[in-house]
Amino acid sequence: MLRFDFLDARHGDCFLVRWGDGRVMLVDGGPSPVYQDSLLPYLETLPPTGNGRRHIDVVCVTHVDDDHIAGIERLLTELSRKQRDGEALPFQVGQTWFNAADQIVNSQAPASAAAVRRLLATTPRGAASIASIAQGQRVRTQAKQLGIDLNVGFPDRTLLSCNRIEVHGLDVKVVAPDTVALDALLARWRAAESARDAGIVTAGYTDYSIPNLSSTVLLIEHLERRALLTGDARGDRILSGLEECKLLKSGARMHVDLLKLPHHGSNNNVTSDFFERIHADHYVISADGVAHHHPNEQTLTWLVQSRSPEDIFTIHLTNSIEFAEMALQELAVGRRFRTAVRHAAEPAAIVSLGAKAPAP
Ligand SMILES: [Zn+2]
Repeated sequence: MLRFDFLDARHGDCFLVRWGDGRVMLVDGGPSPVYQDSLLPYLETLPPTGNGRRHIDVVCVTHVDDDHIAGIERLLTELSRKQRDGEALPFQVGQTWFNAADQIVNSQAPASAAAVRRLLATTPRGAASIASIAQGQRVRTQAKQLGIDLNVGFPDRTLLSCNRIEVHGLDVKVVAPDTVALDALLARWRAAESARDAGIVTAGYTDYSIPNLSSTVLLIEHLERRALLTGDARGDRILSGLEECKLLKSGARMHVDLLKLPHHGSNNNVTSDFFERIHADHYVISADGVAHHHPNEQTLTWLVQSRSPEDIFTIHLTNSIEFAEMALQELAVGRRFRTAVRHAAEPAAIVSLGAKAPAP
């Protein structure tokens, strides 16, 4: 069985992938309050292992945006504090997967990375960009202090498209960032280096292009069930990554059991083509419609119109969002899809993918 527990991550992402004999991967931690409100209470419901601790096999941070990384930073900060104070750790983390944009550049172009780091150090503090980079660095430092392996098993300790890894029977293929996104990222760093202007790099953090370019996308598979987990990546980069890794033929279509929509259903990251080419039985949108107008009605329309009226599938919302539910109600006329909204009293929207029925 492959199971997903999508927590109330407000406007961010925070969910558990569960498989095999009690295996757990935590993907993103939502913005900061999500740790106390949703993530910590949920992790405490996991069954403890023999040593009394709860085991999280993998903690994956898709990118450095606050609505993805902040909850993870709080989790690791709390574990570090307990370790320092000699208290028992409630959770044991097996490994961490996390590409920080500056770390990717460091692995590919150490000279540029060092030069830009020096420039960044002199940029006035307080900028969202610096905070974002610092958040990423803290996560890496804390993981190290806790003795948690970072990106172990990936070449250059970086998650890049077409890397493949198996974790306790879960097959994981990295779809993004791909080489095109990586080149764009490196170009930005080199331009900052030669112009001696850290702003060229940090601008990317405020307009979200660099986090989105470096956002990790994973295609995971267990017992013939597949899910595409897209972070806040851009749809075109997801498609090109799938093509580059020969998981999708040029112009062809693929089907997955579950698709977590990129960037909370924003219409800035995808076009109709994205949904035409990737079909799913379960589409999951992690959003609350409060901080941002996510999911956008345009995105919902593209999604629904990419399917035939007879197609049976489910669109899951992690929160009740009036405008999105109204749009879906209108789109549902004459169609057979279903909308599932997490009830406020439920701690998670759960999607459970059982073993496939044997072919007749
Ligand atoms: Zn996000």
